[in-house]
Order: sequence, then C-alpha cells, then structure tokens
Amino acid sequence: MYYVSTRDAAQRLTAPEAIAQGLARDGGLMTPEAFLRLPANALEDMKDMSYPQRAVYVMAPFLGEFSVAELNAFAKAAYGPEKFDCPQVAPVHTVDENTYCLELWHGPTCAFKDMALQMLPHLLTASLKKIGERKRVCILVATSGDTGKGALEGFRDVPQTKILVFYPQNGVSAIQELQMVTQEGENVGVCAVKGNFDDAQTGVKRLFADEELREKLAKRRWFLSSANSINWGRVLPQIVYYVSAYCDLLAQGAVQNGQAVNVCVPTGNFGNILAAYYAKTIGVPIAKFICASNANNVLTDFLRTGVYDKNRPFYNTLSPSMDILVSSNLERLLLALTGEHAQVAGYMKELTRTGRYQVSDKVLQKLQGEFAAGFCDDEQTKAQIAKTWQAHRYLIDPHTAVAFHVLEEYRRETGDQTPAIAVSTASPFKFCSGVLDALGVGEKAEGLDILDQLAQVTGCPVPAPLAGLRGKAPRFTQCTEKEKMVDQVLEMLL
Ligand SMILES: *Cc1c(COP(=O)(O)O)cnc(C)c1O
Repeated sequence: MYYVSTRDAAQRLTAPEAIAQGLARDGGLMTPEAFLRLPANALEDMKDMSYPQRAVYVMAPFLGEFSVAELNAFAKAAYGPEKFDCPQVAPVHTVDENTYCLELWHGPTCAFKDMALQMLPHLLTASLKKIGERKRVCILVATSGDTGKGALEGFRDVPQTKILVFYPQNGVSAIQELQMVTQEGENVGVCAVKGNFDDAQTGVKRLFADEELREKLAKRRWFLSSANSINWGRVLPQIVYYVSAYCDLLAQGAVQNGQAVNVCVPTGNFGNILAAYYAKTIGVPIAKFICASNANNVLTDFLRTGVYDKNRPFYNTLSPSMDILVSSNLERLLLALTGEHAQVAGYMKELTRTGRYQVSDKVLQKLQGEFAAGFCDDEQTKAQIAKTWQAHRYLIDPHTAVAFHVLEEYRRETGDQTPAIAVSTASPFKFCSGVLDALGVGEKAEGLDILDQLAQVTGCPVPAPLAGLRGKAPRFTQCTEKEKMVDQVLEMLL
C-alpha cells in the first residue's frame, strides 16, 4: 500500500518511508492512498483472538513491506504482560445496558498514548532498516505531559535510538514530572525548559529546522526524528482498539454482528477519533462519532458550523491533554471527506495565514452526517466524575468525564439510544487532585500520598506504574533556557 500527502497526491511513499519520514515534505500528513475493507467474516473471526493477534490482523494490510512474523513479534513485545496490566490490553467495561467504556490506560504510563507509543518504536526502527538508513535516530519530544512519558517508555533501550524529552518547567503535573524525571533506560534524556509548553515546542521545532545541527549530527551518524501524533505509525495502532472493542461486544453478546454502535471520544489533536473513523472505513459498524471537547471547544464549533477558528482564548483545564487549539489530525479527515488534495491544501493555507478556514457546504453536510460534537467546562467535568461514581461505582478521570458528559447530553438532545462506546483515555490516578475534588474531598494528601488517599476513598487500586514511583530517585534534574536546548542535544549525542 502507498501513502500520499493530504495536500498533494503526487507525494507518494511506501509505508516504511512514510513512517520514517513522519511529515510529508509539503507539510501535509502521510495517509493511505486507499483503505482495504476487512473480509466479511473478519469481526466474527477475531472474536476469539488475543489483542496482539487482532493488532496484526488489522495492521498487516497497511504494512505490506512487513512480514506477518515481524508484526507478530512487534505486537507481542508492545502489548505483552510486561507492558499491560490486563490480558485484554484494552478492556471494555460495561457501564449500563447500552453504555460501554473502552479503557485505554492499562499500559506502562497509564494513559492512552501507550496504545500507539508502545508500537511505534518497533515500526520506526524496522522502517529505518528497510529503507537502508544507516544513521541512528534520536527522537525529540516537546510534551505537556502524557506524550513525553509515553514516548520515553516506548523507546527506552530500543537499539540504535535515543530519546530526549523537553517539558515546561512549571507546566506539567507533579506526578507527570516525577514519571519523567525518574525514567529508566540507557538511551533516555529528560530536561525541563524555562518557559511554557509553547516555548518547549517552539524550541524543538527550531532544533528540527537547524541545518548546522543536522550536519554536525550526521557526522556523528545521528539524525533527528519525532514521535508526534501525526506520524502514521501512531495512528495505525489506534485503529486496532476500535476493532477490538467491537469484537469484545460481539463476544459478550452485547451486539449482533453488523449492529451499529456510536463512539464518543475525548478529543485534542483528533488522532484518537480519526482512528475510529478509519475503523469504520475498514468495516466496523459505527453510526456516529461524538467528538467531546473541554472549554477549548474549537472542534465543537467546527463540527457545528463548518468554521475552524483558532483565534480564541486558550484555557488551562482539568483535562490538560485536550487543551489544544489546532487539531493536526483533522487534516486527514478533511481529505477523507473531500477526496481533494488541493482543497485540503487550501484550507491549511488559510489556517496558517489567518488562523481560520471554512469548509464548503458539501463538506459540512458530510461531516455532520458522521459526527456530532459537544463540550463541557471543569465544573461539569467534576460533576460528571461524581455522578458516574455514585450511579455506577465507576471511577473515571477528567478526560473520560468530558466524554461521558457529552455522550449524555447527545442522547438527551437527539434521543439516539444506539449502544455507545465511551473512550477512557487516562487512569483517574493520573489526576488525583481533580478527581478527589470532584468526590468532595477537600483536604488532600501531600505528594504521592494522594495516590493512596484516592485508593482509600474509592477502594480502587493504585496502578502499579504509579505506585512504583514512590522511592524512585530523580535521574534528571537539568533545566535549560529555551535558547540553549541545542546544547542538550549535542551533549546527549556525542
Ligand atoms: C492525548 C490525550 C487525549 C487527546 O487525544 P487526541 O488523539 O490528541 O485527540 C485525550 N486524553 C488523554 C488522557 C490524552 O493523553
């Protein structure tokens, strides 16, 4: 299968090239030229497979240059019991008679980024070999929290790679910072940046654009790459869990083969919900995609009006991984709906020039045929956590709560009672403070004791990777000026 840029069908690459390169040369996103539908009996056939087997089944048609034996080895390593704390990997929890929750946080960092970032390093290193790249790769990441830790765990001790993560000095939660600075592995580096997330991100972009640095590193046999969510190697593994969830519902008799479900996804960069759309494209019967946002509701407005406008205030919310004004992966959906690369390129040009674009009526109609959207603020998020706990004794994190809230609202407004899968993207223990607030606990324990406090209040166990932070000494204490990030790179890649 070939991959083309969202902005130009003439930019055409193989899967290993697309994964190694990340972004298309014209700034577009590499996207499959065509989607093959699963065979008619595939969902039934997959019912009895393990998650790694389902992953290979779903991913293989997109990765013709990879052998099934290779993919089997990757899937076993990525989703094995050393990495995920339950054998289903992405279990589906029954909330009530027509609501199911797909839990994507059973991996090593307790957030959904693991689903893709455990697989990406395997795909990337194999891709580099296949295209004959001799240099070693250093992954640079700017993170506002979850991605940095997910990438560190994914790339730790992967041969021929190093990974260096920059995070804003006062811009991540205490637990997120501790997760990163205690990271184990011989090939990892973590460094705080004086400034906010934007400073860290701009700094990393500058490193990628630095020709002199590129030449220096090439002499040392290194080159820089990213683990950004626009890489096809991150989107593809996410399609798997939607297929898997449907198979689980089939297996437990919750749906009949062919019966449609809705999905509701807490959305930031649009990668997760896009994967759901692709799952439908290859044959999973999904009726509606419900896009859930927090107070940064640029996507809600877009899906309701057809106008994407990032010129608006930015809010720091209880669900920080969705605090985003430019949802990069939306570009891939625009291509799927228009089929016109030039039209997508035009929208993106407008976005760069004015921060705004408006899709045609035809595109808006298509969008609204497939998608619904809603948002909620922090108060509603907390109320939802409390409500879900009281009604079902089911503890959810703030990101997941946004999805639950928006799903309930959607059902009230439309009367649509199609069985729905709400997607859960983080363990509530990653956001103890907000969750305890929601449960009405005013007096909160210090430091990591807050994990035990939440466990005591709810009777839910602390996930092992977070409990294990206790007593770990920080390995990384550097903090750099944003102008000096290049020195960190040079020092690491001697
Ligand atoms: C990254 C993330 C999201 C947003 O996912 P996108 O693919 O960017 O839409 C939602 N919740 C959590 C916990 C995340 O880490």
